Amino acid sequence: MHTLNNIKNQIAKRIPSVIEKLGYLFNPFILNFITENNRVTVFYFHGIYSSDKERMLNHVDPQNNVTINEFKDFVDYFLEHNYIFIKPEDLLSDLPKDKIYGIISFDDGYFNNLLAIDLLNKYKIPAVVFVTTKNIEEHSSYWWDIIYKYRKREDKQILDIKKEQGYLKKFKYSYINEYIKKNFGMKSMCPWSEIDRPLTIDELKILSYNPLISIGNHTHNHAILINYNEDEIREELHQSNKIIINITRKVPVSHAFPNGLFNDLVLKVAKEVGFRMVFTTVQKKNILPLKSSNFLCLDRLMVRDPNIKNYGSFYRMGYNPLTLYSEIKSKISFL
Ligand SMILES: [Zn+2]
Repeated sequence: MHTLNNIKNQIAKRIPSVIEKLGYLFNPFILNFITENNRVTVFYFHGIYSSDKERMLNHVDPQNNVTINEFKDFVDYFLEHNYIFIKPEDLLSDLPKDKIYGIISFDDGYFNNLLAIDLLNKYKIPAVVFVTTKNIEEHSSYWWDIIYKYRKREDKQILDIKKEQGYLKKFKYSYINEYIKKNFGMKSMCPWSEIDRPLTIDELKILSYNPLISIGNHTHNHAILINYNEDEIREELHQSNKIIINITRKVPVSHAFPNGLFNDLVLKVAKEVGFRMVFTTVQKKNILPLKSSNFLCLDRLMVRDPNIKNYGSFYRMGYNPLTLYSEIKSKISFL
């Protein structure tokens, strides 16, 4: 029985990569028969590397793991497939029908997002940047990057690093902060380079003058809001908004949930605080017309594969191979 389970586990582990390979072959064919019109695909990124060399330095948790050249390939790929990139605010008015829409978003407020934004300026493509205001104000490293870079330096396995980060995500920021200080010291809060540092207050101010860029709320402490009570959720959102307004002189209309985690209470408070739209990390496309016109809850796809020429077909279908596998698995019990 034990061996049978082992074999099952081994097969299950390989299925996503098999789905990926099959997708490369069959998605372009399937896409001839399904419409992409009247859909909004929201893509999300974190930091962007300026080169392959930067990627190798292990200064950040490689969430998207894309270089600026790969980001350019991503933009070119979707422009070639007739995607029209819009700002989140554009969803608040009627969009022309029978078009394919995309939104590019960046989470946390990494300095190196400016590389991508320089490129987007050349294309005249808009984007939204969701900033964690505490890191911007204090110019401090993001806690998940601290864990990643220090543990990597200690030669820890990726799986163990992920486990440690996953454990901390069950707590409020105050606990995580203490944990970081205790395990890595106060000095760990200082960024190591241009790769892991947040935007400065001045850089954020200048960025907010760019008419193509919208600045969104991502809480003050990168608070995983399902771990907080109602008053604390409100405080996180208000405090962050206050700082953004102070720096940019604009009221954010959108919020992206840190780690994508939310519940009914979080949605209720976000609505009360006045956001017109919130962004999840449910890996799906959004279908137009959107359900509500005064408070939108939008799904997003994480862009993490440099091989966009093949992988892009998954995004165009509204999947990544892992979510496609979970969906198939939920329908077929033996998997
Ligand atoms: Zn985040």
